[in-house]
Order: sequence, then structure tokens, then C-alpha cells
Amino acid sequence: MLRTSIATVSLSGDLDGKLTAIAAAGFDGVEIFENDFLAYPAGAAEVGRMVRDAGLEVVVFQPFRDFEGLPDPQRSRAFDRAERKFDVMQALGTDLMLVCSNVSPAALGGIDRAAADFRELGERAARRGLRIAYEALAWGRHVSVHRDAWEVVRRADHPAVGLVLDSFHTLARGLDPDTIRSIPGDRIFLVQVADAPLLQMDYLSWSRHFRCMPGQGGLPVDRFLGAVAATGYQGFLSLEVFNDLFRAGSARQVATDGRRSLLAAADRIAGERLLPPRVQPQGLEFVEFAADEESGAELGRLFAALGFARAGRHLSKEVEWWRQGAINLVINCEREGFAHAFYITHGPGVCALGLKVPDAGAAMARARALLADEFHQAVPPGQLEVPAIRGLGGSLVYFLDAGSALAAVWEREFRAVPQDSAFSGDAGLTGHDHLVQSMDQGEMPTWLLYYTTLFALDRTPELDIADPGGLIRSQVVQAADGALRIALNGTRSQRTLSGRFLAEFFGAGVQHLAFASRDIFATATRLRAAGVALLEIPENYYDDLEARLGLEPDFLESLRRNGLLYDRDEGGAFLQLYTLPFAGRFFFEIVERRGAYGGFGAANAAVRLAMQSRSVEALR
Ligand code: MG
Ligand code: MG
Repeated sequence: MLRTSIATVSLSGDLDGKLTAIAAAGFDGVEIFENDFLAYPAGAAEVGRMVRDAGLEVVVFQPFRDFEGLPDPQRSRAFDRAERKFDVMQALGTDLMLVCSNVSPAALGGIDRAAADFRELGERAARRGLRIAYEALAWGRHVSVHRDAWEVVRRADHPAVGLVLDSFHTLARGLDPDTIRSIPGDRIFLVQVADAPLLQMDYLSWSRHFRCMPGQGGLPVDRFLGAVAATGYQGFLSLEVFNDLFRAGSARQVATDGRRSLLAAADRIAGERLLPPRVQPQGLEFVEFAADEESGAELGRLFAALGFARAGRHLSKEVEWWRQGAINLVINCEREGFAHAFYITHGPGVCALGLKVPDAGAAMARARALLADEFHQAVPPGQLEVPAIRGLGGSLVYFLDAGSALAAVWEREFRAVPQDSAFSGDAGLTGHDHLVQSMDQGEMPTWLLYYTTLFALDRTPELDIADPGGLIRSQVVQAADGALRIALNGTRSQRTLSGRFLAEFFGAGVQHLAFASRDIFATATRLRAAGVALLEIPENYYDDLEARLGLEPDFLESLRRNGLLYDRDEGGAFLQLYTLPFAGRFFFEIVERRGAYGGFGAANAAVRLAMQSRSVEALR
């Protein structure tokens, strides 16, 4: 039975707000971080009551610093200090104190000296029914690795003295987590869990500012947890995540992310037998745009010019269905309900993704188990309620499967309508290639975790992309077979294209959709003939392309003539073209992926972003 906990230091706010957020996310326990307690205007007994009233238990009181290996008189003062903290613990209602390895220059070192100190501390704690757990800090003066901490605990040889394992301290030092496997599980009193991005810096700064939830960073936390599981440890898995962004963010969101990360990690360690299986995306069945009458009509004209046919109108709602190849786009101009509320908040834009999955019910079960927000809206009699959860920026993710809603939704709810006069035939678009969601950089860890834990999507290495207004951090999550590819773009600057999108869209959302073309040269010709405004690419780009890649002159000339961007890797080639932004907000990309090209044209992103910035400026 997995029991989860989180340290109060991981969250923003004051102690009662933290406890509310921790309880709401479904944790079983909480580590009371001393500073959170000291800064709270209530005594230990009352704080203990608050914790229990929230349905939580105090897993540990921490940290007790600079204890072991001291000469007298510091040594006896350290024991006096410990007795005072024992008083606090008893009032709080916890039996466990975390002691981290001594960092003081006064500490003398020596495993036996430390073991003797812990034996005495254990004896004193046991008299009060309390226990002591010892943790090796990666920057400890004499004890900085878990094996030495374990040796101290082993030689202390007292039932009230056990070990703390912390994934950060073990993995940051590059220690082999398999060395944990030989430690008896009943001597491990607490397991703390954190991930971190792979950074080159001192352990202390790395630990204090950059820890993150398991699955958000680059440390092999799963191997650590697998080794812990092998010991037979039955206690709490407790998040201890020091992160500047999290401590400035929403406590509720960080707590939810944290519990989601622990549940998903435990599921992976157990061979994915604890939770319903990860949702296997089979592609986008539809993308829904919220609009009003005017912007909806304008969007319809753009779709027609892009070669989409108007495939139907909803039987009872102001909703149109547009189709080309395997792409279904929906324009929702209803004056009530979810899409309308979305439109009022964000203006015209993508309000929902319809995801094709093997089993919509199983997808909902996975999402529920991982604390996703379910969405329900009243549906008229005879119409389907498609299961849905909340996604990025208040948008929705619908689940459709072949067995239930998928086949029925178009036939049952739409009737055929005459083509728009602007429709001039198919432009060779065959399906979705990828979509890009923009967000504030602080939101990226949340959505990375959402996509990689709910869904069978893997992350590729993060990239930094230069926008004329600042840096954009880009993280792709994708299905192994390419059925769904999503790029998460984070920015901190208001002046990047993503930043402007966030400002004008009032939050995170889909910034562009990339459609696959079977022949991008033919598509480009068709789009120009239909009057679609396309992004101009400067001559300098083609000169550089020639210098870098040595393309055939004829091929280079046709790229230039059609305003296409080009990239290639070991697997193949990638050709791209962009529309100008719709209403100055979101845009469409057309791509042709040749061979097994694996990327998204990152080499072209700087030029593309610069030209898009100019085009957006020109609209002002
Ligand atoms: Mg720790
Ligand atoms: Mg793209």
C-alpha cells in the first residue's frame, strides 16, 4: 500500500494554506519543515491538530542540523537542543526526527564517533517513544553518501535509529542506486523523493533551487525507487522538493503535480500494474476552435482557402465541421456552454482537442487515478456525452474510441451543408503532424508531467530557441509511432512570439497547428492561388541554406520560389511553410516530412520567429 507525503517546504504560502493544498491533493502525510512551523503563529499542539483535522499525519519533523561528531561543549549543547525539539515533536504528534549529516567545520568525523552519538540520541528518543532518522547530505562535512550514513546507523545499533534515503543526495552524486538494495528495509525510516534537471553546479545550490518532481528532471529516480522497493521498505514516499518556481507558484497545483508524479512513478516501478494503463494516443480525431459569429466566419474562410471542405453543420448547435484528409476541424460559435466561456476568456482559438484512444473509458480511469479534472456539460437528449478532462489553459481533452463515440459523433450529430464559395478543392493536406502549445515557463513542468504520466508520450531533450524577444524553451512529447506530437513552448519574456500570444490569449494555449502535406510544393502553389497570406522568408536564409547543406540549385530555387523552409537529419528531410497569424494570434504550419526525419525544424526556428515577429509588428 503506497503512502505518500510531501514536505511543507515544497510549497508556497503559509502553513495552513500548504496543509489545505496537501490534503486536497490526497496525500497521506506531511513533513513539517521547521521554518514553516517557526513562522506560524500557533503552538505545536495546535499545528498538530490542524494536520490531523486535514486528514494528514506528521511523518517527520525536520531538519535537525549539525548534530554528530562534535567535541564538547558543542556536543552536550547539541543533545540539549535535541531534547527541546523532542518536546516540539511530542506536541506536534510525530515520533520521527530527521537529522541530516553535519556540515559544521567543528565536526570531527569518524564513523564510530558518529555512531556513538546516535546510539545515545536513540536512547534518549526511545525514552520518549520517539525515533531518529539519519540522512547523508550530498555536501555533508564527513558523511555525504548514503552508504556512510547507513554504516553510522548500523553501528549505532539502536532500534530507535534508522536511515533516511533521499533520491537527490544519492543521484546528484552519481552514486549507483543499486547499493541501496543490500540495506534492510526495516532500518530505512523514511524515503524522500526528488528529481532535478542535469546541471553543472555545486550540490547545495542545485538542491536548494532546482529540485523538481520525479519525471520532470533528468535523474534516474525510477532506478532509485526500484532499489528502495527491493529492500522491502514499507514506509512513506515523501517529496522534498526545493524549487524557486514551485515556491512562487500555486500550492494547489504543485501539490497535485507532486502526488501525480509519485503515483505514476510507483506505477512504473510496479511494472504498470497499480493504475489503469497509460493512454495510448492514436491521433487527433478533431481540433475545436471557439469563436463568435464574425471570427467563426473568418476562420471558415481561412479553412476553405487552406483546402478544407465544409463537411457539416451540427443538428442543434452553432457548430461547423470542416474536413480535409484525416483532419477534422470544428468551429464552435455557440452563445452558451464551455466553448462560449472559453471564447469570452481567450478570444478565438483552440478550445478542445479530440483524442483518438483505444478505450475512452480506460482513458478516463487513468486520468482520474492521476487526479485530472473531469469535465461534464449537459448534453441535449439523444446526443453523446464525450468523456473529457481539463487540459492546458482551461482547454479540454476529449477521449474518443472506435467502439463508442468516435464512429457516431459525426454521422449522428451533423448534417451536410453546401460548400463555401471560397472552397477551391483539396490542398493535399493529409493529417496532423504536430501542435504547439505556448505557456509561461513556470507552467512547463506541470504540463510535461500531465502528458507523460496520463499518456504514453515520451519526451525528447529540451531545446532553447532564440526568438527576437527572448529565449523560448521547447520540450516535445510524442507517441513512439508519431500518432501524436506536441511541442510545449515556455517563455518568460512578454516580447517573444509565445509571450505575446500568452498576453493576447490571456493564458496558455495552442499557438499553432502543423498539418502534413503529401506534396508541399503543390500545397504552396494551391494556397497562394487561394490567396492565403503566407510568411515571407528572407533571401539570406536561402543563401545560408545553400552554404550549409549544398542543395541542388534547382531544388534550392524551388524552395525559394515557394517560400519554404528546409531542414534535414540522418533520417530524412523536413519542409515547412507558415500562414500569417489568424487575428494576430495563432497560425498554421504546413510540413512535409520525408523519410524518417525526427525533428520539427528547430534549425529554422530563429528565422521563422524573426519573420513572424515582423509580421505581427506590421499588424499593429
Ligand atoms: Mg532530504
Ligand atoms: Mg512547428
